[in-house]
Amino acid sequence: MIQINDKKNCCGCGACSNICPKNCINMKYDEEGFTYPDIDSTNCVNCGLCEKVCPISNYSKPKNSLQEAAIVQNRDKTVLQESTSGGFFSVIAEYVIEKGGVVFGVSIDEEYKVKHIYVDSKNELCRFRNSKYVQSDVGTSFVDVKKFLEEGRIVCFSGTPCQVYALTKYLGKDYQNLILVDVVCRAVPSPGVWNRYIKMKEKKLGSLSIIRFRDKKLGYQYSTMYISSKSGEERGGIESDQWLRMFFSGMTIRPSCSACVFRSPKRVSDFTIWDCFNIHRLDKSFDEDKGTTRVLIHSKKGSLVFDEIKEHFQYKVVSYEIAIEGCKEFESSPQLHYERSEFFSDYNHMDFDDLLNKYYPTTIKIKIMKLARLILNRLGLDKTLKHMLKKG
Ligand SMILES: Cc1cc2nc3c(=O)[nH]c(=O)nc-3n(C[C@H](O)[C@H](O)[C@H](O)COP(=O)(O)OP(=O)(O)OC[C@H]3O[C@@H](n4cnc5c(N)ncnc54)[C@H](O)[C@@H]3O)c2cc1C
Ligand code: SF4
Ligand code: SF4
Ligand code: SF4
Repeated sequence: MIQINDKKNCCGCGACSNICPKNCINMKYDEEGFTYPDIDSTNCVNCGLCEKVCPISNYSKPKNSLQEAAIVQNRDKTVLQESTSGGFFSVIAEYVIEKGGVVFGVSIDEEYKVKHIYVDSKNELCRFRNSKYVQSDVGTSFVDVKKFLEEGRIVCFSGTPCQVYALTKYLGKDYQNLILVDVVCRAVPSPGVWNRYIKMKEKKLGSLSIIRFRDKKLGYQYSTMYISSKSGEERGGIESDQWLRMFFSGMTIRPSCSACVFRSPKRVSDFTIWDCFNIHRLDKSFDEDKGTTRVLIHSKKGSLVFDEIKEHFQYKVVSYEIAIEGCKEFESSPQLHYERSEFFSDYNHMDFDDLLNKYYPTTIKIKIMKLARLILNRLGLDKTLKHMLKKG
């Protein structure tokens, strides 16, 4: 049966738990708020399936022969506004639903938990739009995907590269009726920390109505975290929002993300999607502040689907090399924050507000940075500044 000697060797995909024929693997939270398999050895029959399915211990770099690429912007203005970047994912999802299929993606439930769910109606697709910067709970999705595939329905599964790779290990064979979409993935933050963070926000703002990790009200180039309730709202970018600061400084990310084997642009998926902030350099005809998605197409199936859906978006075909140029997430993993052990030791006995004020205080400097960003945004100068910084 599976054993984890180093937490960097478990990405929490849940494939082992999904495959166990005796249901003796539960995903259990550790002291950092991430889930790991917990095995009830009394029921284990030593079948070895959990070891065989593990995407980390069985990883081998895929050898895609096809690597096509494009930059995409959805023509539907509402969908584009709700999506993280260019709203490409929604077009694939709509296509699958029109064909009577089922779409798996990540949603936030009534208790603000970030989870994989499946839907088969178009009006529920909005639940998947916008990246949730929290590790999602896959639950029994792999079992459900297999059931739908065996019934002959088209299935689209979207997730992080490790989740998509794990699904292919779980299924163990190719299915023509399966479309796989993975995102480019820097890392995922702790669901346990998210739970405490959101409770703190609820205490302050009351019951929350909208949570967006990448809201585009101030434009795509200045995407902000946005939380609202009847009694108020909060908005902040990477420079000031405490959730984003914890994430991007490497404090709350999963240990496996700092040694991620799934980063390569060679993937088992049909499509890889991610941000395109430098669209102004590639094609000036796109609206650069509404969002654009970079897309890699890894399979013939992906190429055929792209051809069938392309009327729904503005797009530009680019070379594979241009598409991946400058994308660090394909090359190296973020480091864990040097104060991470201390942070999590405090996390387990400190009040959450105090914890944030200790490690991520909203200092005068942070307030000035936020104000400067807002002023530049109002004057329409933040894009120009970003372009200049990228050139330099
Ligand atoms: C955790 C995470 C880290 C990312 N890191 C980067 C990065 O470093 N650089 C970069 O350029 N792009 C990154 N992305 C991808 C980017 O944020 C967008 O997902 C991508 O540009 C596609 O946007 P879209 O407008 O086409 O689709 P959207 O409509 O925004 O689609 C969102 C898609 O992401 C899936 N998703 C949402 N939250 C999660 C989650 N927690 N776990 C798994 N899947 C999820 C949904 O199921 C859906 O398929 C990341 C995404 C996530 C979820
Ligand atoms: S060896 Fe088989 S029965 Fe035992 S935990 Fe792993 S999958 Fe379950
Ligand atoms: S990486 Fe996935 S399959 Fe491997 S031990 Fe962790 S949860 Fe189980
Ligand atoms: S960085 Fe790697 S290990 Fe972490 S969630 Fe993304 S794909 Fe999985």
